[in-house]
Amino acid sequence: MRRRQTLFFPALLFAQSCLGTWAKASFRAPDVIVIGAGAAGLAAACTAAENGAKVLVLEKNKEIGGNTWIGGGYFNFVSPEDQTDSPQNFYLDIIEEGGSSADPALAKVLAFESYEVMLWLKSLGMNFVKSSVASFGNSRPRSARPSGYEGDGYIRTLSLYARQLGVEIITAADVIKLITRKGSICGVQALIEGKLTEISASKSVILASGGFASNEKMIRQYASEFADLPSISLKSADGKMIEAAQDIGAAVTLMDKVFCMVGTRRGGQFRGRLHGDNARYILVDHRGKRFIREDAGMTEIQDKILSLPEKEAFLITDDDNFRSYSPTIQRDSIRAVETGDIVCSLTLENLAKQLNISAHELKKTIDEYNGFVRQKYDPLGKAKGQLLHELRTAPYWAAFAVMNVCYTVGGLRINNRAQVLGKQGEPIRGLYAAGEITGGVHGQSRLSGNGLTDALVFGRKAGKTASSP
Ligand SMILES: Cc1cc2nc3c(=O)[nH]c(=O)nc-3n(C[C@H](O)[C@H](O)[C@H](O)COP(=O)(O)OP(=O)(O)OC[C@H]3O[C@@H](n4cnc5c(N)ncnc54)[C@H](O)[C@@H]3O)c2cc1C
Repeated sequence: MRRRQTLFFPALLFAQSCLGTWAKASFRAPDVIVIGAGAAGLAAACTAAENGAKVLVLEKNKEIGGNTWIGGGYFNFVSPEDQTDSPQNFYLDIIEEGGSSADPALAKVLAFESYEVMLWLKSLGMNFVKSSVASFGNSRPRSARPSGYEGDGYIRTLSLYARQLGVEIITAADVIKLITRKGSICGVQALIEGKLTEISASKSVILASGGFASNEKMIRQYASEFADLPSISLKSADGKMIEAAQDIGAAVTLMDKVFCMVGTRRGGQFRGRLHGDNARYILVDHRGKRFIREDAGMTEIQDKILSLPEKEAFLITDDDNFRSYSPTIQRDSIRAVETGDIVCSLTLENLAKQLNISAHELKKTIDEYNGFVRQKYDPLGKAKGQLLHELRTAPYWAAFAVMNVCYTVGGLRINNRAQVLGKQGEPIRGLYAAGEITGGVHGQSRLSGNGLTDALVFGRKAGKTASSP
């Protein structure tokens, strides 16, 4: 999406900020400024606009979407009427995955308000694949995927709706500082078209600028053990707004917690994303043996893979399971075969040869696993409900299960109204935050699919409270 030139844009450039008064022409002065146009920012902007606020979104990149756009689009939700799951189960999974260090009030909001967000998205015209899957860490199949899209589906829907609501979105607008007056946030300083610009907000500022997975310096500072891993986040996930908020007294939490995802080997071009459904693959090490139940939480998997001598494993699946993935994933996987990021072969012998592992061990592992599926019992502890699909249809597929930094779990402390908190736990007036920029919602690690649920649920929350009188 190209930067939108608006009739009113010059008025913003000459706005005098809260240090002075608004120039006369600034009738488009926003009530609410949202920083970042990913899922959290757009959900916040739309909700604030639904609530009657004049909203301005400032996006650093030339295109909107952030990591949400490049993400897999898995979104966890549970309906209160679900017979096989419940918001309470979802909440307990969050607490368990987060090592009991999630803020219970925030985790409750996430679990119990996920359904309302799903209904909202559907009311805006989003369609989802009928059956949900159980992605990493989820004890039940509750990860929904948009039909025909991935993360981009949310951005397409929300940006269209934002425009219908009259939300103004300016891209290539890099916010660098928060402006305060008498202890309240009253605006921002941004670089727009190379010009330093101050913009006031009559009500509030919402931070939705994502995490710091691509800021190597911050990763080294807080979580040095991950500093040498490649990042699959966009460069704009640089944590600069976390630092800007710290400059005005905001507190941070769990900054040393980093969430990795199956990515590419260093220098790889295409990410084989065959890990979306735990029931449809096995993970084996360089000896051709399974070493973990595939439905373990991401942190457990990441720790196990990083503790292997080669720091990588292989995800193995067969063609029946491969075909259960979306056309986009299948297309990208075929491209990944061409670039060497995925291996595909008509026989297990040849697959093993290409991976440089023992064909005998790999076949033995797969035979054993197929037996576990039939018996509904796995000595490594994979849940019965995930032992669904044998691997027996050629061609066979193998993706390199290499850890890439994907998501920073820690960030700004917020309360259950999405207000940013200071060091004594007091809300900072006029400042709200949602999405990956925050910490505490998940605890030490998060369930797959909860990155989006967090962004959308707390984006809605921030938009609502930040635009209330
Ligand atoms: C490859 C990949 C796959 C993923 N798959 C999934 C998945 O399937 N399910 C899931 O739940 N999660 C997934 N995640 C995580 C998920 O993408 C994030 O949790 C979610 O997108 C965060 O949304 P957000 O709005 O907080 O941040 P983002 O979507 O990253 O948006 C932040 C925006 O703020 C902008 N910004 C940053 N700094 C500034 C500034 N100073 N001024 C103005 N704008 C600024 C950025 O450019 C960006 O557009 C994935 C992540 C990656 C990297």
